[in-house]
Amino acid sequence: MAVLTSYDPASYRKIGNGDDVEATAIGSVETLAIEQLPTVIASAKAAQKDWASLPMAEREQYVVKAYQQLVAVQDELATLISQEMGKDYRRATYEVGGTIQNAAYFASEISEALTTEKLDNHTELHYRPLGIVAVISPWNYPLAMANNLLMPALMAGNSVILKPSEETPLVAELFINTLNKVLPKNVLQLAQGDKTLGQALVAADINMVAFTGSMAAGKHIMASAAPGLKRLVMELGGNDPVIVMASANIDAAVRFVVASSFENAGQMCTSTERIYVDERIADEFEQKVVMLASRYQVGKWDQPQVNIGPMVNPTQHLKVLQQLQDAKAKGGVFLLGSDDYPLPFIQPTVVSGITPDMLLEHEETFGPVVAISRFKQIDEAISRANDSHYGLGAVVFGGQGAKAVAEQLEAGMVGVNQGAGAGNAPWVGAKHSGLGFHGTAAGHRQFAQVRVMSY
Ligand code: NAD
Repeated sequence: MAVLTSYDPASYRKIGNGDDVEATAIGSVETLAIEQLPTVIASAKAAQKDWASLPMAEREQYVVKAYQQLVAVQDELATLISQEMGKDYRRATYEVGGTIQNAAYFASEISEALTTEKLDNHTELHYRPLGIVAVISPWNYPLAMANNLLMPALMAGNSVILKPSEETPLVAELFINTLNKVLPKNVLQLAQGDKTLGQALVAADINMVAFTGSMAAGKHIMASAAPGLKRLVMELGGNDPVIVMASANIDAAVRFVVASSFENAGQMCTSTERIYVDERIADEFEQKVVMLASRYQVGKWDQPQVNIGPMVNPTQHLKVLQQLQDAKAKGGVFLLGSDDYPLPFIQPTVVSGITPDMLLEHEETFGPVVAISRFKQIDEAISRANDSHYGLGAVVFGGQGAKAVAEQLEAGMVGVNQGAGAGNAPWVGAKHSGLGFHGTAAGHRQFAQVRVMSY
């Protein structure tokens, strides 16, 4: 029996003079061997038939009751989130609380979206289950990201196999085992393992892949799903730009970019990754960014004053360091912090003078770094903001004219004087940041097959 061990990210340390590291184990789970996948899929297929035959209202009752069971384990879930991926406990409780409190509303919204629509006296649209949906989720919001895909997939009458991130198996284990106290057997199953299991699952006899994760993995999944024309919904990485115009409320822009660059230690898909500020206000903007950024406290999740946790693992830590070192070598100016931090933390870092050839400009960083460039003409800022394969979120701070700038940005979600994305709107990545989307009626319907019935 193979096991997957979960480590405390705050405990990673180097041993000896080489690249070897060690960390404290939090716990472990049994992994699913790839050879066992056909058995899991056969049981998911059998369970799906009965599940799909239930009226929507009954599926909704099951799902709502299943999510109510999470109340009893909410503290344990929040602690596991903090322990496994390092975010501070307060934020972990928001993630759990949000998932539980929204569950009944989320289920009823999905139920309504998937109810038969009458187009006229002769035509109806039916939303039919697809079969088996593989949900593959990341570690940065280990509960919320799995939940966003899993709930509509289940409610649509599919059976679901969740392959959670190998960084956060314990959160997934508690989440799924708790839901399964109520759900019919095998409607929702867990496949614990690393990306090789994810790859095998995508290639297996399933009908849809609902994925949240990196752009690289998304491309691989799309290629692997192609021969079976499997349905795909993919929410991928981002490299979100923020443009700060001369007419902006500088304090509001500063508060936004610092909070958004450091949220979840920068490990958020819609983190602010690069900032283009009008050179006429750049000195004041940078000064204020440094002042605010230097107040952030880095440390372990259980210390109340901490708001930036560790990088999730040494690979992510190294990736951020490499981007900082690259910026330094190419002339970036460090206004706060440096390009050299020991495991496992990255201190709040502010770098200005970012140029298009730097990794900080064109790669997703996923660390607590504020990366600033100055612009003379707004067209230059727009062109650099759009010069990316990514297109998840984008933000403009400014007075009159900000909306016109925002309309030129190539992103799925654009915010004017506020963050990108809205609670009552779909979650959308443009360009290589996504394929399809979830949330709202249009998003929920992507987990179903439309059938046009004409009488
Ligand atoms: P990742 O792509 O490395 O892994 C995500 C999941 O996919 C894991 O469960 C992993 O085991 C699995 N996986 C990896 N390669 C696979 C493959 N080829 N086939 C099948 N499964 C595979 O991503 P991560 O490091 O866990 O998460 C961080 C990334 O997720 C960032 O790029 C971030 O921007 C993105 N993200 C996007 C959103 C969004 O809504 N757009 C939300 C959260 C995170």
